[in-house]
Amino acid sequence: MPGLTFTISATDGAARTGVIAMARGDIRTPAFMPVGTAATVKAMKPQDVRSSGADIILGNTYHLMLRPGAERIARLGGLHEFMGWERPILTDSGGYQVMSLSELTKVTEEGVAFASHLDGSRHMLSPERSIEVQNLLGSDIAMAFDQLVPATATRGEHEAAMERSMRWAERSKAAFSGAGALFGIQQGGLDEELRGRSAEALTAIGFDGYAIGGLAVGEGQEAMCRVLDFATPMLPADKPRYLMGVGKPDDLVESVLRGVDMFDCVLPTRSGRTGQAFTADGPINIRNARFAEDRDSIEPGCPCPTCTQFERAYVHHLVRSGEILGAMLMTEHNLWFYQRLMQAMRDAIAEARIRELADGFFGRYRKPSP
Ligand SMILES: [Zn+2]
Repeated sequence: MPGLTFTISATDGAARTGVIAMARGDIRTPAFMPVGTAATVKAMKPQDVRSSGADIILGNTYHLMLRPGAERIARLGGLHEFMGWERPILTDSGGYQVMSLSELTKVTEEGVAFASHLDGSRHMLSPERSIEVQNLLGSDIAMAFDQLVPATATRGEHEAAMERSMRWAERSKAAFSGAGALFGIQQGGLDEELRGRSAEALTAIGFDGYAIGGLAVGEGQEAMCRVLDFATPMLPADKPRYLMGVGKPDDLVESVLRGVDMFDCVLPTRSGRTGQAFTADGPINIRNARFAEDRDSIEPGCPCPTCTQFERAYVHHLVRSGEILGAMLMTEHNLWFYQRLMQAMRDAIAEARIRELADGFFGRYRKPSP
């Protein structure tokens, strides 16, 4: 019994819409996955994350293995029971955070040895340990462990990291015996030839889905789109394609146009906590003095619980005062904005008008604010 069944119901150009069916529920694609780093989508109760339209959330292996610990979560019934989220959870491999957050990292063929950013304790992440941790968490979609290099790395460094990541992908697959699904991650930076070799290696190993890694690391939207133009068609058309760590609302539209099915990003939750709200007319900063007596909702016409109940003036006051409710209301609006955008794209693909929707969206979202 496969961990997932992916059914594409409609395509429009390279864009596609469909359903990933899993034991814990269906995931409508294109899908946006809110990030629940420390077993919580920050400032949101699980039922409110669900109400926003999310079918799946993401958990972070690195953070959870350090605190409260994967073995502890397993003893407490697994991540779903621990945090009160019954639907699918995708866990990352820990590869990204171990390179970006931890200290004293030492990368060898075996894996990555590192010191915790919390207390300096020493740990090791390898393909086998990453898969073990994701299995202890009870992940529905586990990710292969890969080696990340900075976007500024040389072609030789990108090549070496990609080749090692493919060896680690094979070890990840061998270590995986969970009931869920396992995704491989294409690497190769901005280089078409490396991306092609990576896709070939992953397809030979065989995964339930394929992620595009190593983007959204500061290369800019134009470069990202250029890579997606050649990288996406290299991945099997009948499996889900997941663009990791992306992104801004217009990044999502650009990527859906190029055939991506799944996304995750901290942007709607993190920027909500600092006062940035997303609207169809582009982001606004609710802290701005011009909102101090503004009686409109954050985004007029938005059906989310924040916008139907509260005015900009009040949210402005809460955020400026550092009130917890301010973070909660902003996060909820932003998650609804992202999920409504995904639903609009799913509908547009089904009705063969994704290009029209994209042009209309870009026209409003990217126009300079007054
Ligand atoms: Zn709203």
